[in-house]
Amino acid sequence: MEVTKVFVRLADNNENPRLRAYCTIIIDNAFAVHDLKIIDGNDGIFVAMPTRKIRTRCPGCNRTNPTGQRWCGNCGRRLEETQRQCLDSAHPVTQNARFLVEDVVLDAFWKAEDDFYGEPEQSTKEEQTPQESER
Ligand SMILES: [Zn+2]
Repeated sequence: MEVTKVFVRLADNNENPRLRAYCTIIIDNAFAVHDLKIIDGNDGIFVAMPTRKIRTRCPGCNRTNPTGQRWCGNCGRRLEETQRQCLDSAHPVTQNARFLVEDVVLDAFWKAEDDFYGEPEQSTKEEQTPQESER
C-alpha cells in the first residue's frame, strides 16, 4: 500500500484550537479517504482517522436520534446511553499501515503549515562538533 497523494486544508483555529487541519489521502492512485484530521493533542500532533457519529435508534418508535440525546425526539422515550459517540469509518488495520499513513500525512501537514506561515522554525541550537579534541 502506498499513499500517493495528500491534500491538506489548514483549519480555522477559531472553531477548535486543537484541530489543526483536515486531510484527504489517495491510496495507490485509486482510493480516496476524506476527513482525516490533524489534532494537537496533549502528547503532540497526531492524525485522527475519519469518524462517523453513531445514532441511537429508539426502541419504541424506531426513529434515529443523535447519540448523547437522552430522550427520543419523537416519542419521548428514554434512550440507552452509549459510551462512544464516534466510530472510525476508515482506518489502517495494521501497525505498519498506520505508521505509513501518519508519516505521509504529517509530512504534508508540516509542509502546508510552512507554506502558509512562511519560514520553518529554525533550531536555536548551533550545530556543534561533538568530542572536539584539544591539541
Ligand atoms: Zn421514540
